[in-house]
Amino acid sequence: MKKNLWVIFLVAVMVLTSACGKQGGVSGETSAEGNVSGGKKVVTVTTSFLYDMVKSLAGDKVDMELIIPAGEDPHLYLAKSADLQKIQKADLLLYHGIHFEGKMQEALESKGYAVSETFDVAKIGTMDEDGHSIQDPHFWFDIDLYKEAVKNAAAKLQELLPEEKEEIGKNLDAYLEKLTELDEENKKMLAEIPEGGRYLITPHDAFNYFSRRYNIPVMAPQGVSTDSEVANKDIENTVNFIVEHKVKAIFAESTTDPARMEKLREACKEKGFEVKVVKGDGKELFSDSLAPQGEFGDTYLDMYRHNVKLIVENLK
Ligand SMILES: [Zn+2]
Repeated sequence: MKKNLWVIFLVAVMVLTSACGKQGGVSGETSAEGNVSGGKKVVTVTTSFLYDMVKSLAGDKVDMELIIPAGEDPHLYLAKSADLQKIQKADLLLYHGIHFEGKMQEALESKGYAVSETFDVAKIGTMDEDGHSIQDPHFWFDIDLYKEAVKNAAAKLQELLPEEKEEIGKNLDAYLEKLTELDEENKKMLAEIPEGGRYLITPHDAFNYFSRRYNIPVMAPQGVSTDSEVANKDIENTVNFIVEHKVKAIFAESTTDPARMEKLREACKEKGFEVKVVKGDGKELFSDSLAPQGEFGDTYLDMYRHNVKLIVENLK
């Protein structure tokens, strides 16, 4: 009798422990956050652009994690240990590619998908100051390339959530339409700048795609990555360009130090030319980041409108 009770007891303990063990395993796999939000899939993205993109396509269907906070410079951003966790727990990891997230390339390549992966290499090339052919990561200012990136992201999200395929497809179509409208709007707005005043001077070379799309020559004292050196020769070239073309205004960016543009202004003044630096009170151009969530410019569409409005107001 006593022996039988012991057996029953032992079996009960074994069943209980194995049940507890299983539960522990399950909660460990889905993570605490996953449980709270009803077990949605986790999409981790590197930048505010991609955060906005995924939100537009499937915002209510996934949990999102952002690695590089809005306003920080992705060219220089170093992954922290919390970022590695975000990468680790991701069911889908999206990044820009073309070496935009230059310091995280390895971690991203091994697990992530670059939304620029399908781009024709002929479309992403440019020349550096010395005439060398290089790849330029700032593709989002070419609305056609941005559309391609959005389509690529949508396809990945549909793969991740097959049951939401149709819904994501509808969101995609609606979003692509908005991008077409934005492009038309931009063309109309930028046409207000008189022919002789169509020059865009920015701190680093982030607006080549914008330049090609809307036929506005651009110039910057620093190259396509903020990781590159700012040579005296490049500063001098930019100053000469401003003076020679009588450029009315030059622009600071939200992700780089505005002091560089002040130096350009001073150098122009020494040559007897007054140029305005557009900066401060939210009057910076967005080049490599959207605005922080909740501020104007926190979506791609508003960011682009802000930029175009600022450029037209100061150059026309
Ligand atoms: Zn940049």
